[in-house]
Amino acid sequence: MFIAGEWCDGQNGSAEVLDPATGETVGAVAISGPSDLDRALEAAETAFKSWSQTSAYERSAMLRKAADLLRERAEDIGRLMVSEQGKPFAEAKGEVIGSGDHIDWAAEEGRRMYGRVIPARAANVQQIAYKVPLGVVAGFSPWNFPVSQAVRKIAGALGAGCTIIIKCPEETPYSCAELVRCFEDAGVPNGVVNLVYGVPNEVSEYLIPAHPVRMVSFTGSIPVGKTLGEIAARHVKRCTLELGGHSPFVVAEDANVDAAVKLAATLKYRNAGQVCAAPSRFYIHDAHYERFVDGFVAASKELKVGAGFDDGVQMGPLANARRLDAMEGFVADAVDRGAKLVTGGRRIGNKGNFFEPTVLTEIPEDAQVMVDEPFGPIAPILPFSSLETAIEKANALPYALAAFAFGTSQSTVDQLSRGLEAGMVSINHFGIASPETPFGGMKESGYGSEGGVEGMDAFVTTKFVSAAA
Ligand code: NAD
Repeated sequence: MFIAGEWCDGQNGSAEVLDPATGETVGAVAISGPSDLDRALEAAETAFKSWSQTSAYERSAMLRKAADLLRERAEDIGRLMVSEQGKPFAEAKGEVIGSGDHIDWAAEEGRRMYGRVIPARAANVQQIAYKVPLGVVAGFSPWNFPVSQAVRKIAGALGAGCTIIIKCPEETPYSCAELVRCFEDAGVPNGVVNLVYGVPNEVSEYLIPAHPVRMVSFTGSIPVGKTLGEIAARHVKRCTLELGGHSPFVVAEDANVDAAVKLAATLKYRNAGQVCAAPSRFYIHDAHYERFVDGFVAASKELKVGAGFDDGVQMGPLANARRLDAMEGFVADAVDRGAKLVTGGRRIGNKGNFFEPTVLTEIPEDAQVMVDEPFGPIAPILPFSSLETAIEKANALPYALAAFAFGTSQSTVDQLSRGLEAGMVSINHFGIASPETPFGGMKESGYGSEGGVEGMDAFVTTKFVSAAA
């Protein structure tokens, strides 16, 4: 852990970290206790006093330096990530490099936190409204993108002038720690970034109500998000929740079906499907259904699955054994309800958490995989005859994070972009998740945003000053 500028062990010992490709231990992670969290709270509160008063220009320079260090170290950090999370090395390295862009964005946006002068009712009065950083942020980031999820919270908080205590995932502690080290080495003062690990609910239940914490930022599952949102509400803490998704992928009658198949398979199997915005329900117009299924199944069978360091590997293991059990459960439930298992559906081997790229058709809408986020390499594909019905089905769940669609005419694109209920809609390409665009959900997929100017606004509040001369 990294508390008040010092790397330290945890009060409550340590837990094992496993390589998901082998099931073997790769090391240990510190487990915090209340005394560690108290030190982090004190450090973050003290550091906030000076960090919030440091000019945005100076803060920006330190963040830009951290981004450069992160990119320089991408190869080594990527290797750590493969050993703890399992994704192919190219994906891991790409994630680290891309995370540098998030820091750059927060560094620059921090310099554009403009206020405004509001015309007063009296000539001797000046009224200004401006943005001030909220204070100490308690961040909770997940294991699927160990660096790029943590970086949104750390860089956003720091760029806005907040300090942060981040609980990174115990499953993937090493790459997150190296991310934090980049901020340390860039000269970010002690106490501005604090990194802890622990028993997740113990840490969140301790940190969120704590007096110095003014904002909570969580990325993870809907049930956990609801719990943390409740605690935050009870203690009147600002909260950003980036939760699960169950993204529809709609292919309309006038779509370029080959382009749709190519993107669908790429997005479905990236990070073994453990992506909150991964497409997970495929609605295909009757005219293209057969061609889409054939193309998707062929792409699924061709996919090279293996350990993240192996040459040419396109999909690694699931990050933990829980996901393996979940995949087996989804497939068994769907088949029991009459679905056709076209390819995949089984664990690969008996070592590591490998699961076959899986395609299900003829699947009833009430199958568990159609209503609960699969968060894994399973693709249920369904036909439709009317676009209105497909959009209705796409919108039928409480999830509304991302939606993907293909169609060429302006009217189809209009109908899809207006009709699909999701925080992010991407049509005819993959166009979400860059630092400069808002990233967040609607309905139970959460609230608040982690990208774009909205992402920076999450860490500030408006202060109004009216001064008479
Ligand atoms: P989970 O619900 O147990 O945990 C999800 C994440 O939240 C983990 O990182 C975990 O460490 C953390 N967490 C759990 N309880 C917490 C608490 N009380 N306080 C603070 N943090 C807590 O699920 P899991 O088995 O680890 O992951 C599977 C599910 O998580 C998926 O179905 C998916 O919905 C969700 N998930 C979503 C994202 C995302 O990017 N939105 C990322 C990872 C996991």
